Amino acid sequence: MRDVDGRTRVCSLIGNPVEHTLSPLIHNTLAEYTEKNLIYVPFSVEADRLEAAVRGAYALHILGLNVTVPYKSAVIPYLEEVDELAKQIGAVNTLVRCEGGYKGYNTDMTGLKRAMESDGIYLEGESVILLGAGGAARAVAFLCAHAGAEKVWMLNRTLERADRVAEEVNSVFGRDCVTPLLLTDYDKIPKGKYVAVQGTSVGLHPDVEAAVVTDSAFYEKVHTGYDLVYKPGDTKFMQLVRAGGGRAFNGLKMLAWQGILAYELWNDIVVTKEQAQNIIEKLREKTKVYE
Ligand code: NAP
Repeated sequence: MRDVDGRTRVCSLIGNPVEHTLSPLIHNTLAEYTEKNLIYVPFSVEADRLEAAVRGAYALHILGLNVTVPYKSAVIPYLEEVDELAKQIGAVNTLVRCEGGYKGYNTDMTGLKRAMESDGIYLEGESVILLGAGGAARAVAFLCAHAGAEKVWMLNRTLERADRVAEEVNSVFGRDCVTPLLLTDYDKIPKGKYVAVQGTSVGLHPDVEAAVVTDSAFYEKVHTGYDLVYKPGDTKFMQLVRAGGGRAFNGLKMLAWQGILAYELWNDIVVTKEQAQNIIEKLREKTKVYE
């Protein structure tokens, strides 16, 4: 336990629920590595107290906040400023103190990009299959369009949700980038080799034997599979990708990088490669229990 004194700065997470968050591990470890007198604590906030929580955080001189489900969009009206990219996505997960309040950023998206690039995955010019159309998949769809992916096939169990995301992304970027499809229509995706991003909650612990698509014909189209799920570390989706001859990654690095990028914004520093790698290792240890 670090020493807390009169100069300790506080960063926090607001959301509901927050009980299972790994963010304190990321930020309190980074504070130790970077020798900052900073402590990170999660707060569970009721929906009708969200504005009061943001205003109260500012009044209490809280240095920065993370925002998690279900407030990533709902918090925007209570911010002084919103970063251009986060504005396009319509969701923020990081609040940085500014004159009169907080400025919102989306490090979920930039974190995923950093994580993918650290594994040698570059979306520019890629054809992508995106499974899911929830909050996380929506951010991935924006990332793909922003990073210059040629085409994104967005597959979801509820077609209307994918329709809505596709319309939003295509209208923001002014090109026909995202095509929505019903999950069961995966055979309509043209022949070729794709990066597949698994953005549904299927396969999450304790449902570890489940994958959102199980047909081996689907996986023949996948050269790289990226599962946003990180509990367990080796998901059924990843196993199916490998069985089809592709490379497979989980969402642990994304989790690490969204936190590291937030920490960098709050403290105006650059976390070293070694420190980032140590954070990833710590998260891996912590989530091993779900293997
Ligand atoms: P969400 O908004 O609730 O969306 C859930 C998605 O999963 C929807 O597309 C939903 O389809 C689909 N789905 C759920 N059950 C299904 C089933 N039985 N069959 C087919 N599709 C199903 O959740 P989210 O916030 O986007 O999170 C999705 C996943 O990403 C979670 O597992 C979460 O752990 C992971 N995640 C990881 C990170 C990270 O840092 N690595 C960050 C955020 C999220 P419908 O629309 O049809 O319901």
